[in-house]
Amino acid sequence: MNTNKNKKNIIKKDLVLLGAGHSNIEVLKKFGTKPIDGLRLTVISNSYFSTYSGMLPGYLKGIYDWKEINIDLAKLCRVYGHRLIISNVIKIDTKNNLVFLENRPSINYDYLSINLGIKTDSSKIKGAEKNCLKLKPISSIKENFDKLLEFNKVNKNNDIVIIGAGAAGFEVALALDENLKRRNIKNNIILLSKNSSVLNQFNKKAEFIAKNTLKKCNVKFLNNAEVVMVTSNYVLLKDGRKIFCKLPILATNSGPLDLLKKSDLPLTKNGSILIESNLLVSGYNNIFSTGDISEIKAYNMPKAGVFAVKQGKILVKNIKKLYLQKKLSLYKPQKYFLSIIGLQNNRALAIKSIFSIKGQLIWNIKKYIDKKFIEKYTLYNKDNHPQDNQSEPVLNQMQCKGCGSKIPQSILNSVFKENTIKGSLDADKVPNTKNIFQTTDIISSIVSDPFELGNISAKHALNDILASNTKPLAAQMIVSLPPAINEINKRDLIQLKSGADYAMKQATCKIIGGHSYNNNDDQVYLGFSIIGKKKNYVKPQKIKKGKLYITGKIGSALVFAAIEKKIISGMYSEEVVNTMKKSNYEIFKIFNKFNMQHITDISGFGLAIHAHNLLLRHSDLNGLEISLKKIPLYEGAIEALNNNVKSSLNDSNKNSIINNLRVDYKKINTKYLNCLFDPQTAGGFLFILDATQKRILDELDKKKINYSYIGRVTNSRKKIKII
Ligand SMILES: Cc1cc2nc3c(=O)[nH]c(=O)nc-3n(C[C@H](O)[C@H](O)[C@H](O)COP(=O)(O)OP(=O)(O)OC[C@H]3O[C@@H](n4cnc5c(N)ncnc54)[C@H](O)[C@@H]3O)c2cc1C
Repeated sequence: MNTNKNKKNIIKKDLVLLGAGHSNIEVLKKFGTKPIDGLRLTVISNSYFSTYSGMLPGYLKGIYDWKEINIDLAKLCRVYGHRLIISNVIKIDTKNNLVFLENRPSINYDYLSINLGIKTDSSKIKGAEKNCLKLKPISSIKENFDKLLEFNKVNKNNDIVIIGAGAAGFEVALALDENLKRRNIKNNIILLSKNSSVLNQFNKKAEFIAKNTLKKCNVKFLNNAEVVMVTSNYVLLKDGRKIFCKLPILATNSGPLDLLKKSDLPLTKNGSILIESNLLVSGYNNIFSTGDISEIKAYNMPKAGVFAVKQGKILVKNIKKLYLQKKLSLYKPQKYFLSIIGLQNNRALAIKSIFSIKGQLIWNIKKYIDKKFIEKYTLYNKDNHPQDNQSEPVLNQMQCKGCGSKIPQSILNSVFKENTIKGSLDADKVPNTKNIFQTTDIISSIVSDPFELGNISAKHALNDILASNTKPLAAQMIVSLPPAINEINKRDLIQLKSGADYAMKQATCKIIGGHSYNNNDDQVYLGFSIIGKKKNYVKPQKIKKGKLYITGKIGSALVFAAIEKKIISGMYSEEVVNTMKKSNYEIFKIFNKFNMQHITDISGFGLAIHAHNLLLRHSDLNGLEISLKKIPLYEGAIEALNNNVKSSLNDSNKNSIINNLRVDYKKINTKYLNCLFDPQTAGGFLFILDATQKRILDELDKKKINYSYIGRVTNSRKKIKII
């Protein structure tokens, strides 16, 4: 009998962070380096990165690129082992401890930390919501800024109008001026203030410096210019003046997110979440809130990132203390805080209380402080050792998940010889039936989001039955969960099952049963056994001069391995996850319509082994030639290969197929060779068509399905030539 002594960390409670704002990011880091036994951390964010507001002006000036001013959420969560859910929070239901998300089931929490920021309030100006670019939420700044630059590059007579001359509007006006000059875009910039002031929240000297700076640069300042309406062609002022422009920027006051109106949290008269000095939401003992979205009773704090950063430290302490049932610490907002506002030509203005000072030194200090902040949350790869050829995957330091954790093909070859010798069929006929086929597949937690894992794992298993040109009928699910109390098991099963149902439904398949068990690991394993019915047997068309195609892209294990090794940005996971989630059922319908036979699923042991399986399965195929540079790769995979990264299963895959490859080393870029051995999870299909089957490509085009021509059928005696 196993005793509990052997069990690792048993999950007892769920801590859910809403938004990766300036305070929650500190929780994410501190609980990553020092996890709390029994407490599982999940981050829900609408983006794979978290934008650091302090560096925004530098980005708008053009001195930082987008990656430099963002914290890599996907990498932090992957390395620290937190669950990351990329979704929009649409409502919080505190009575049932639920967070509602867009287009997916709600998430349960035991402890909640809300740090979602605010949005620019467009409700007070007619037409502003539709016709203006907004500064907040800050995560949408890049999209808005790119749009603005593109538009003004072409439309040289368009005036760039900024509505609101507070700190954000003033700083954005100066930064844009500097950026546009560098790009040789000469459009006018107009800054509108509804009264006579700029930077009215600060002291008189700051305002004096600001106005003087505006005079010296190309920004036209219009005072007493209160905007009452924005149309697609002009901005209308209260006194009747019209300023003709497209895409004005709204930099007025900010307001609460819409989701707060739908939730049942206590709100202040401004619509912010009301919190106590210990950062708990008033009236709750399990919900914290910090940053711009909340207001502390009895304090009138401005909305600024510096407060959220300071709150982060107390938040970390208080979540720990609450869990351990200790007395919470109090947060005292700083009465006077230092604001540094970027001017032009490497100068900045520092303001604290009644003091204001400007100069180059201030800008350099700001750059130093900001870089130090972002460095704190940046993970660097410190391992300079080149990877050896490691045919024992388990001996690799980093272990890939999904298909990267398979038992090597060489072992399967020796134990399941009768299957592998005929090319490891994607799905095989059930004995004593005419046309019932069966397959099975199981993967580990390639993504930490349980709903998406359910979806991806189901798609992954369905791939086998679809590639064997069989319509799925029913599935049995096998799930293994990490050690946790019943309530946590229930939550996980609901998420996994919903995700799996989503994928199965698209493929007209139904989960009719299954089996579950607890493991002693820190991850979920999820798989399916699927049966399907094949159309009546059709004699396969023989192919002599065929072309080899692949749907989608490859390199999923490379991308995740390189992120886990901290070599490439976690943002690259977005493309891979979005592709893994996408059903292949539409492709199957086309293959099925034309009764195609020369297809295989490439999820598993890498492109080379799967291509070779096609040769083993089909006697009419003599050999293949694959052009390495034609293989479509994920963007992150290209960067991973350029950095010599490989998955933990790479070398065992390579060793078991290399004798069947004829590699033309003179013709290829050897750096990219490993893409042939990279195990794919929930990937696409490899298929061969001859000239008579062009209609299939037309159908794929019609459905906007991505496919690439990567090689051809040859006479190379069951060998694959790589050119
Ligand atoms: C141009 C500009 C310059 C600025 N410069 C400074 C400065 O120099 N110093 C300073 O102190 N302040 C500055 N600010 C103010 C600063 O941006 C905010 O005060 C700060 O970002 C607030 O931090 P926060 O942690 O509350 O939320 P945010 O930083 O806004 O973070 C909110 C997080 O929640 C996520 N999120 C939002 N809605 C949802 C949803 N529905 N579902 C899921 N996730 C969601 C977002 O993706 C984001 O990760 C500036 C603002 C602007 C516009």
